[in-house]
Amino acid sequence: MSEHDDCAVVICSGGMDSTTLAHLAAERHDGVHLVGFNYGQRHEKELVFAASTARHLGARFSLIRLPIGEMLHGSALTDDSVPVPEGHYADASMRATVVPNRNAIMLSVAWGIATADQADALYTGVHAGDHPIYPDCRPSFIWAMGAALRIATDGYAPSALELRAPFLHASKADIVRAGELLGVDWTNTWSCYQGGAKHCGRCGTCVERHEAFEIVGVVDPTEYE
Ligand SMILES: [Zn+2]
Repeated sequence: MSEHDDCAVVICSGGMDSTTLAHLAAERHDGVHLVGFNYGQRHEKELVFAASTARHLGARFSLIRLPIGEMLHGSALTDDSVPVPEGHYADASMRATVVPNRNAIMLSVAWGIATADQADALYTGVHAGDHPIYPDCRPSFIWAMGAALRIATDGYAPSALELRAPFLHASKADIVRAGELLGVDWTNTWSCYQGGAKHCGRCGTCVERHEAFEIVGVVDPTEYE
């Protein structure tokens, strides 16, 4: 990739949304840089899938280690004393999976990388299903954060650099539809909050994953426990 090629940074966790996002960005840009975060979450398994997607797309992959999980205690994703809730993704019980300010933290770091890369876009995979529980995935936050980040690097980031959230108003089923068109291999994605050998099939994100395939009418290729 030459210096003047169009490139994008994509926050990729190895889940269905951000893997589809990575494929979308790879179609739109000459070069793609996937960044995955280990912020001290319960398991790192998902990031193996993010790295695999990067290899598949011929993209660069960076694993960013922010060992702050212990300080972001109180969430089922960072605190072993808090059990992972089971049930539907939009249930109030899923509040236990909120990691305080997680998306803002990741976007700040990734925007710094995008500025250093002189990228044209930073992609985040937030979608409408995230809105009820996660405040830093809502449209008002994405808009305000995008504006703040541009101000933060004014005169240093390329003028074209913008925060893009193409799935902001999409459902999980819409993402499955998009991924099918983009040729996403769903077996190369990981959703489960537990880091077992197989998806547990019971936690909020497993339930949401299976439901999305059912809505679209695509056979769910996931192996559940
Ligand atoms: Zn699960």
